[in-house]
Amino acid sequence: MVSPVRNSHSTVDAVHDKKTRFSYGVKALQFHRITPKFQFCGTWNGPKQFEKFLEFLRTHHIQPILPGEKEDGIIITFDDGEKSIYDYAFPILKRFNFKAVVFVIIRYIGRENLWDISLTGERVQHLSWNEIFEMKKWGIEFGSHTITHRNLTQLSVHEIEYELSMSKRILEQNLGECSCVSYPFNRINMNVVRIARSVGYTYGFGGNGCSNFLLKKEAIYITDNLRSFGVKVFETPKWFYKYERIKQKVINYFTIATMVSRK
Ligand SMILES: [Zn+2]
Repeated sequence: MVSPVRNSHSTVDAVHDKKTRFSYGVKALQFHRITPKFQFCGTWNGPKQFEKFLEFLRTHHIQPILPGEKEDGIIITFDDGEKSIYDYAFPILKRFNFKAVVFVIIRYIGRENLWDISLTGERVQHLSWNEIFEMKKWGIEFGSHTITHRNLTQLSVHEIEYELSMSKRILEQNLGECSCVSYPFNRINMNVVRIARSVGYTYGFGGNGCSNFLLKKEAIYITDNLRSFGVKVFETPKWFYKYERIKQKVINYFTIATMVSRK
């Protein structure tokens, strides 16, 4: 086996190189928007930065998997299904021959985002069906991010069923399959998980990683560098990883607060 390339600064890498198996099973690296244009939110990455992260995976012999392929591994995911994924992330993924899963919000396919207007007043364009078809043809998988991207834990059972089953059905009708859901804002409770299972999903993303319906997502931000990215991938050193998880929770909390205040 070829030994991984080491760079000088890194005790983190030294630990990583020894690992042959991930201790956590399957988990997602969660991206949102990939764009060269500065954004005021934290949930975006520059194309060059994204490329560096993929290079990091390749250097560490990590070939990202798709759900169901293996019992452990890393899945590259994009939440919200924005057009920037097609414009900037897709060409890079193709170059690396890395597959990924894109979670789309059904109501926003081919449309501008009405809930996330940036401070500059710019609206965010979402993937069109044609872009989705093209990416799917190459091997990108598509999952549900519900119909309207509401916090599922605040909805009635009937509404949760609608959000989860209708989105699944529409994706199946157009793409032939839909086995995964990513819960908006990572908000989950017993009802949400139970319904995700009962309407026929195989995998649910968002949670602590203890089951296929609570697969862990590691949010990757513009503020991440190779060191923090490595910590999110390998979960070592433990203290650093715990700190990164708390940070993700805090950022997630503020994301929900912003969405709610815009209603
Ligand atoms: Zn989302």
